Amino acid sequence: MTHPRYITKIDDIKEIPEDDAAKLRKVEKRFPFRASEYYLSLIDWNNKNDPIRRIILPDIDELDNWGDLDPSTESDNTVLPGIQHKYGPTALMLVSDVCGGICRFCFRKRIFMDAESETINDLSEDLAYIRSHTEISNVLITGGDPLTLATSRLEPIVQQVREIDHVKIIRIGSKMPAYDPCRITGDPSLLKMIEKYSTKEKRIYIMTQFNHPKELTNEALEAVNLLTKAGAKPTNQTPVLRGVNDDPKVLSELLGRLAAAGIAPYYIFQCRPTIGNYHFSVPIEETYHLLEKAKRTCSGLAKRVKFVMSHKSGKIEILATDDKYTYMKYHQAADHNNIGKFMIFAKNPDAKWLEDYGAPLSESTLNYE
Ligand code: SF4
Repeated sequence: MTHPRYITKIDDIKEIPEDDAAKLRKVEKRFPFRASEYYLSLIDWNNKNDPIRRIILPDIDELDNWGDLDPSTESDNTVLPGIQHKYGPTALMLVSDVCGGICRFCFRKRIFMDAESETINDLSEDLAYIRSHTEISNVLITGGDPLTLATSRLEPIVQQVREIDHVKIIRIGSKMPAYDPCRITGDPSLLKMIEKYSTKEKRIYIMTQFNHPKELTNEALEAVNLLTKAGAKPTNQTPVLRGVNDDPKVLSELLGRLAAAGIAPYYIFQCRPTIGNYHFSVPIEETYHLLEKAKRTCSGLAKRVKFVMSHKSGKIEILATDDKYTYMKYHQAADHNNIGKFMIFAKNPDAKWLEDYGAPLSESTLNYE
């Protein structure tokens, strides 16, 4: 099977009328556009609100002035070019600055825009860092999308990380099963690589990003099926996005179909306040209620998700909200002492990020030594 052609210019999409294309060219100048023909073929062009269209096509609202280029200050966690190390047990390797498509809500837009690369330039130095940090038990290979690399380039990275004894879990973060499943179904060498390095004691997790049930096509499910047969553990994470999945029925269908296909629902993210993302953002308390409504029609396996905010200070789980208060807990924290810290905030229905709440009314830290 040949790989689908990638489209990187709005002008090459014949379904977009010239009037619209003229506006979108302005957006394209600021934030690049990229999509596979396969992914564009999922768009219902008669529906202006089609979720796939919203995920992948530029929108004039991206020019709104809101957010930061790096809202979680990820670049501050860069210990070497291509390596982020924020939480003791987890290191991120940024191996590619390209994705199968560019999600319009991407929180790592800076990687596609910055001349200054944050991706790996000396693999041996990065591996030496991981080797010398014995607390690193899991490595997330990410980017961009690692599956934009040819398997012949990805395999030496996976192989050398696998050789480090204290690294138990390798995660590969990829939206390729949604954007270009043929990258997986058409490459037996990739599946062989997974089979070799995802062992019964130390698995490779594929961190998929399905945002909407429409992305779970036969092709996408076949890609996940082959990865699973090769020994990988597929696990999904998605933000809640206005106009894409901010509907309990859509979320419930997404979680249910993921679980049925053996793709573990893992994180539901609060949309990060990134430049160009304003029209995707949903307030925290609204997202909480959307998710709770969705969970009512989900099986236990479908509702294993945690609703979290990837804040610069840590991964904060939004536990509940009532008439007066909103309750949160640090699931992971840059400052080790904050892991498990429980916080109560005054309710704020407009809040979209932690700072919008101000100081907590109450907080308690766990004193485990
Ligand atoms: S797959 Fe991830 S890194 Fe790539 S564009 Fe989408 S959100 Fe950004």
